Amino acid sequence: MPSHPLPPGLHPDTLAQRVAMEPSQFGENSEALYLTSGYVQPSAEVSARRFGGEEAGYTYGRSGNPTVSSFEMRLAAMEGTEAALATSSGMSAVMLMLFSLLKAGDHVLYSQSMFGSTIKLIGSEFARFGVESTVVAQTDLSAWKAAIRPNTKLLFAETPTNPLTEVCDIQALADLAHNAGALLAVDNCFATPVLQRPMEMGADIVMHSGTKYLDGQGRVMAGALCASDVLINGKCLPVMKNSGMVLSPFNAWVVLKGLETLDIRMRAQSARAHALALWLEQKPMVERVYYPGLPSHPQHALAMQQMSDVGGAVVSFELKAKSPELARKHAFHVLDSLRVLSLCTNLGDTKTLLTHPASTSHGKLSEAQRQAAGIGQGLIRVAVGLEHVGDMQDDLLRGLDTL
Ligand SMILES: *Cc1c(COP(=O)(O)O)cnc(C)c1O
Repeated sequence: MPSHPLPPGLHPDTLAQRVAMEPSQFGENSEALYLTSGYVQPSAEVSARRFGGEEAGYTYGRSGNPTVSSFEMRLAAMEGTEAALATSSGMSAVMLMLFSLLKAGDHVLYSQSMFGSTIKLIGSEFARFGVESTVVAQTDLSAWKAAIRPNTKLLFAETPTNPLTEVCDIQALADLAHNAGALLAVDNCFATPVLQRPMEMGADIVMHSGTKYLDGQGRVMAGALCASDVLINGKCLPVMKNSGMVLSPFNAWVVLKGLETLDIRMRAQSARAHALALWLEQKPMVERVYYPGLPSHPQHALAMQQMSDVGGAVVSFELKAKSPELARKHAFHVLDSLRVLSLCTNLGDTKTLLTHPASTSHGKLSEAQRQAAGIGQGLIRVAVGLEHVGDMQDDLLRGLDTL
């Protein structure tokens, strides 16, 4: 697709404003929203060539849309990949990737700390179609290495993870994958291309939930895969055209405009998260704070090196308590005492959102599985937004001071 001609060498924050399809004949400065499912063909001959893949041009909404293309081009530019493909949600991006790259008998290696639905999709749903998989500890490189098999085709990592912000070494995993003739995919949802560009560290595919920071204001669901032209247009696009987990033009327009402010949002929200994490570490009723920007984080040095010296905008903390029952009671008390921040299972919003992982995202696990995953009953996740840090602290103190 033709792109607006821009000079080479522009920085990511410039690309985030400027990369898009050419404006229409009206010269609109804000990218147009093309709400159409079909496209009138200039001639039967051109139509035939477009359907035959010999000529670029839009034919039908399941195969492409100019607003969706603008989002794809802009995100690819920000991630530093040749191409991107937008999907209806983050999970449909994962599904498209698995569908496009794997067949029965192939093996996938992934971390036990990944997003819960990712674990279920690979470990349960794709297992029904004969795709084998092994889960390994997020930060144990030797475990990843030991689990590689001759049929391993894909390593899939997420860093930092939800909610404990565990970090894995992207470059080391890429080397491991490539030595085994496999690909490395990275879920870059938490760090975003503003803080972390997995492609520069050797990853082959970057996966996004656009629902989170790319939108940035909690409005729409979206997802994307970013990779080489061969992987995106050669492998994934043909599957997409026949399966149809396309991003709607409206949602594409929302996330496209979200990308324009991603850089300043990520930096401002991360600065607030860092301040909140330092403050939480000083609170007597807090047992432990999980935040990659703190020296107390087990992978602090690696995180700072991979994430542009910024810890991201998600902080989790564990409350002190004598038993799991009491810990749960304390956590519920803190959450129910909020009057400004939201009790809401999302993240990446400019509004600060708090969750209790043990009863929500990790609620279906047994207590033993939860313990193994390190998700205590006293754990609270804070997806930090843009409110004043003092107001965030006061809102948390309503509950913390009355435990
Ligand atoms: C939310 C999320 C997903 C799934 O994205 P959806 O848009 O909700 O489908 C995948 N990975 C991570 C890390 C997420 O936070």
